[in-house]
Amino acid sequence: MNLRRPCVSSNPVFIGIYEALLPDPYITIDKYADEYRMLPKESSAEPGKYRSDRMPYLKEVMQWLSPQDSTQQVKIIKGTQIGATEVGNNVSLYYMDIVPAPQTMILPSETLAKKHSNKKLTPSLRVMPHIAKKITGGKTKDDIGGTFEKIYPGGSLNIGWAGSAISFRSDSSRIVILDDVDGFPLDVEGEGDPLDLGKKRADAFGSLKKVYINSTPTVKGRSNIEIEYEDSDQRRYYMPCPHCTPKDHEKQNKDNMVVFEDEHFRFEYDKYKYTLTSDVKFCCYHCGTLIEEKHKTWMMDQRNGARTIADNAGHPHKGLRIPSYYSPIGFLGWNEIFQEKLTAKKAMKRGDTRKMKTWVNTRDARPWQEDELKDIQMTEDALYARRETYKAEVPADVYILHAGVDTQDDRFEYEVVGYGKNGKTWGIERGVIVGDPSLPDTKIALDAVLLEKTYKHESGSIMKIHTKTVDYGGHRGKAVSDYTSKRYHRRVFAIKGAKQVDAPVVNKVPTKTKYKTKLFMVGVNAAKDDFFSRLILADGGDNYCHFPVTYDKTYFDQIVVEKQDDAGRWINPPGKRNESTDCRIYADCAKELSGIDVEKMPKPMFHIENASPKKRRRILSRR
Ligand SMILES: [Zn+2]
Repeated sequence: MNLRRPCVSSNPVFIGIYEALLPDPYITIDKYADEYRMLPKESSAEPGKYRSDRMPYLKEVMQWLSPQDSTQQVKIIKGTQIGATEVGNNVSLYYMDIVPAPQTMILPSETLAKKHSNKKLTPSLRVMPHIAKKITGGKTKDDIGGTFEKIYPGGSLNIGWAGSAISFRSDSSRIVILDDVDGFPLDVEGEGDPLDLGKKRADAFGSLKKVYINSTPTVKGRSNIEIEYEDSDQRRYYMPCPHCTPKDHEKQNKDNMVVFEDEHFRFEYDKYKYTLTSDVKFCCYHCGTLIEEKHKTWMMDQRNGARTIADNAGHPHKGLRIPSYYSPIGFLGWNEIFQEKLTAKKAMKRGDTRKMKTWVNTRDARPWQEDELKDIQMTEDALYARRETYKAEVPADVYILHAGVDTQDDRFEYEVVGYGKNGKTWGIERGVIVGDPSLPDTKIALDAVLLEKTYKHESGSIMKIHTKTVDYGGHRGKAVSDYTSKRYHRRVFAIKGAKQVDAPVVNKVPTKTKYKTKLFMVGVNAAKDDFFSRLILADGGDNYCHFPVTYDKTYFDQIVVEKQDDAGRWINPPGKRNESTDCRIYADCAKELSGIDVEKMPKPMFHIENASPKKRRRILSRR
């Protein structure tokens, strides 16, 4: 599109001179931005000259908003880091400088309006002195007009916010910029929807008006920008695949070009830790080629044919959906975006959908559906439903047993857990020993489990519990101290949860209790992170947690109850019980303290009755 006045000569030398000499009132906003727009260092990741080729998907947006184009409303549903707000500033500066016109800019709140003016617009004017000197008013020269008003010959820019009726009462504006409209309240001081009020500001200008609306979306059905985008020609930014799209621009179309959408990205990740193990690549959905992110710049370049194409052609309003995958190289990368998605996915399986909602809104530029992916969330019912009937008390793949004991004022609670290869675990027995932990009878009953009890392995052999940990917390520290110190040589250890959120699972060097007995500090938060991330695996593969049919509903209620706060700390909600989680975590700590790496065990560790230490070693080595 060349909207400049034609030169009478076809000689390129003359055209060059003509273009250089004549001031051009017909310049479009994208070209104006490339020519004159300076980005201030206070608010820009790339200060200095604005380059529209960094975000080429916005060139057409700026053309639609230019006076040469007949479009009256432009609506952008966007991810973060794609430059849509800066387009609003380009528009605003253009209509101060080139085609002066009255303007209104509305942000969601007073704080945001103030911040936008003081941190973005005014600093932009400071680095563009030829416009700044046209602006009158302001307390000091540095203000360049006031915070909420910039008056210039031919018009003024009023900056307001969505909650204030007064923002909508100023004179009509030819240019209306409504920024981040999903942050707008439903009603302005009883006068109606601020989005509608904002649009009405421009009505007096008829076909000359320009309304620019942008936002990241929020919840489906309640998202302003979703409704606006639906009421538009619904464009997306199509690009050539470097491998299969025809090079001839005339032959390029929707059916042989590509768009960046969530489902077309490919990557490997650790299904246990939810971390990326490969770079994210884009898979061309025509030829199947995996494309590295570094080719994004070439693909988005309009010289190679990239352009917006409408899904709802013919609608008078222009709309563009632009997710963060289009963010230019050096801004927000695909690896970062999809690692965020994995982290969100992990949180979601524990029933925490906040991170995924944010990801869908701010990266994928889609409104969130409340029932999205509900079926894969980890719930007590889903875990209860996957209980198994073991062939023996201890299944064949279990190599060693450990136990964790939680101490309460009136009882001990414990879980015996079987550990196998590749991180797999089997719940074996969950039990409660009622009685004050400081009383001899309670300790004898605990001995009967931890030291004496045998479990039948599927092979027919007998197993006993290898390492046992007992919680030192609560009011029974002395009782636990007495108990574990006398059984330390039988691998019964006192443990205590470390307060730091990032403490390691176990510190293998014991400290001392105030009763001068050995105590191991354990990183309960790290241990819970580990357990909960294994708990959500549903495929029976590596790191899977097996549960027997003997476990009741209460067990599962107690292992899904905790929620992670923003600092990453697992919190047990007030009034809820979580002993099942604690017992399991303590058993996992026992496994760490045992010093035995299951992955390296040649055979399961069976118990041989009445074998002398020497003889027992020989038997074990013969197996
Ligand atoms: Zn291709």
